[in-house]
Amino acid sequence: MRRKMVVGNWKMNGSIATNKVLLDGLVAGVHGYDNSDYVVCVPYPYLCQAQQLLQDTNVAWGGQNLCSTKNGALTGAVAPHMLTDYGCTHVLIGHSERRSQFHETDDTAAARFLAAQQAGITPIFCMGETAEERESDWTDYIVGRQLDSLIRRFGANVLDNAVLAYEPLWAVGTGKPATPEQAQEVHAFIRDRIAKLDYEVAASVRILYGGSVTGANAEQLFEMPDIDGGLIGRASLKAEDFVPICRAAHATATRCLATAKP
Ligand code: PEP
Repeated sequence: MRRKMVVGNWKMNGSIATNKVLLDGLVAGVHGYDNSDYVVCVPYPYLCQAQQLLQDTNVAWGGQNLCSTKNGALTGAVAPHMLTDYGCTHVLIGHSERRSQFHETDDTAAARFLAAQQAGITPIFCMGETAEERESDWTDYIVGRQLDSLIRRFGANVLDNAVLAYEPLWAVGTGKPATPEQAQEVHAFIRDRIAKLDYEVAASVRILYGGSVTGANAEQLFEMPDIDGGLIGRASLKAEDFVPICRAAHATATRCLATAKP
């Protein structure tokens, strides 16, 4: 059975003082919720603080991007080993804000994805369509193309140590989440497309939903059969908002375990 997972994406938010309040509250809030996984993806300057406050807890930490090359004359870039130096286990790859505002493409995202895995970091690969693309019925085409940039290029096994995230752009940061049914439909599409190449990989890969998830809607989303948790932006910035989402994952996982066949 796939473990539920909740990932916080702080984006360009935080300060030494506010991070401490948030992380202390998060650690206290998820203590003992051991049937699910919790991760925070923080801005680079705060990786050291995250490491200090989260080591030996059940919350992991990671970066929001990385460079696909190792060292060199690349001002402003951060190499994979620099993330592992600070204990990062996860990294976001291909977030819609990186694609739309920093000109990242399917090709550069695929290269970063592979670089993360080669460094022993689990990539969380983001995919999603714009409102216009959805209105034009292009959702499957866009998400399929983004997924294919990994699985057609590297083979489905590349997802063995990876997490996928469906994040429709019309739901990210808008306060208007996809309905559980809308999200489930795309998650099932993603899983089916992987299954055409490798059934076992499709059955085991975790697919998170991201886009205006809150404590009020998380449980309904996480109960859908192909939604394995959430990638959370705004609601990950305060422990009082984020912990209820983690609790929803834990509660859903507890129910799934109770009903699972022995
Ligand atoms: C995100 O940016 O990954 C995200 C899901 O943001 P929000 O939760 O604020 O919609």
